[in-house]
Amino acid sequence: MSVGTGPLGDNATAGDLAGRHVTVAGLGVSGRSAALALARMGAGVTVVDGGDSDTHREHAERLRKEGVTARLGDAGTLPEGTDLIVTSPGWKPESPLFRAARAADVPVWGDVELAWRLRGTASGSTGAPAPWLAVTGTNGKTTTVQMLSAILRAAGLRAPAVGNIGTPLIDVVLDEQEPPDVLAVELSSYQLHWAPSLRAHSGAVLNLAPDHLDWHGSMEAYAADKGRIYEGNQVACVYNCADPATERLVREADVEEGCRAIGFTLGTPGPSELGVVDGILVDRAFVEDRQRQAQELAEVGDVTPAAPHNIANALAAAALARAYGVPPSAVRDGLRAFSPDAHRIAHVADVGGVAYVNDSKATNTHAAQASLAAYESIVWIAGGLAKGATFDELVRTSASRLRGAVLIGADRALIAEALARHAPDVPVVDLARTDTGAMTAAVHEASRLARTGDTVLMAPACASMDMFVNYNARGDAFAEAVRELAAGRADNVE
Ligand code: ADP
Repeated sequence: MSVGTGPLGDNATAGDLAGRHVTVAGLGVSGRSAALALARMGAGVTVVDGGDSDTHREHAERLRKEGVTARLGDAGTLPEGTDLIVTSPGWKPESPLFRAARAADVPVWGDVELAWRLRGTASGSTGAPAPWLAVTGTNGKTTTVQMLSAILRAAGLRAPAVGNIGTPLIDVVLDEQEPPDVLAVELSSYQLHWAPSLRAHSGAVLNLAPDHLDWHGSMEAYAADKGRIYEGNQVACVYNCADPATERLVREADVEEGCRAIGFTLGTPGPSELGVVDGILVDRAFVEDRQRQAQELAEVGDVTPAAPHNIANALAAAALARAYGVPPSAVRDGLRAFSPDAHRIAHVADVGGVAYVNDSKATNTHAAQASLAAYESIVWIAGGLAKGATFDELVRTSASRLRGAVLIGADRALIAEALARHAPDVPVVDLARTDTGAMTAAVHEASRLARTGDTVLMAPACASMDMFVNYNARGDAFAEAVRELAAGRADNVE
């Protein structure tokens, strides 16, 4: 096929993009990277975005200098002559642009699909492109790929954590200066939806709970998109023994001959599983005789924080690393070197014998459930935007560990109702304030409910945007309020 003519086939690669008209949907970080990479490959690129703010205009201006056309304030019309759309992950499949694309038979690739097809095409690259070790799940993705990257790096490999985090994937796969050996890739369900030809070396689904159903349309569609991570895996499909839905996805996947299903469990592992025995993380999958042998990898205490769900993340990361052939010592060294990102079960301070923990990133009930399971006696700060969630199961399973609850934010009544139904004896403070001092008041109220040895846990189970710019700002407000509380106590002592 001559360059730049005819329809773009399923096997189209970088060479087929020169001279094509590519429309990039979205002027965010990944959209800007995609636009620049495509323009450098000789494609004619138009970026479209519904926004038209000063920031949008600044980005558009910078792209124009690189020969990219930018159209702001209209995200719905398909630019004439478009051969291909490259979309940013968040755009909904039912967006008018994609409807127009379907009608005109124009293919749509996500940022991950583009990176997958262009990997190994950097002019300096020699040999095979870096394989991908891919991670998805409702919660724990970022933590797990960071652990995985740390383990791979401890084995002496150049292995950045990429995908839904850090440097845009497209920039990493085209990096000529420091080409990676292997990639630890975080993939959201959106990205998987738009990445039909991705074939990872090995993939993991950490867990599956209802989330983003407005985008996917149903739980089945959400699960199916997550399950795409296993398609075409070569060495291992890693699943969570405690979450049968993840194992089901493995069974449904079409994988390479010889690819193995590898489970991870917080209990004693069976053959072809990784698990925990007497405080030791052990591997019964990547050993010579899995019927009789188990390989010690690390101690539970090597994982920070050593909360159950985080041990599960560490086991999933270890499984992918072992599938790639990394030695046990690198698993231990990598896990020891890892420290979680801010706002994820971060211990802020001990004040008056009470621990204050910031898990602002617990923006859904599944995440909050995991962190509530990690402590014995908790004063729980919760609330915000529920995004359609219900709280009965969360409260029911956590009720025995609740000393008290302080509720904030727009949808706090939903949590209050669940507490009244399933934990009627737990004292609840309902904070109607939404001003900037509200978090200080919440921490103050929590400190009054807490007793020595308790944990005040801010794991809101809700999004933050009703009161804060994002979950980072919510976590910062909490940490600041705890510091004020500690300072106030110190003043009182003097
Ligand atoms: P993601 O990238 O999937 O959003 P993060 O690693 O950023 O995941 O963690 C998000 C939230 O989920 C945190 O609040 C954390 O406490 C919680 N979490 C992390 N790992 C798990 C897990 N395996 N199961 C349930 N919740 C988890």
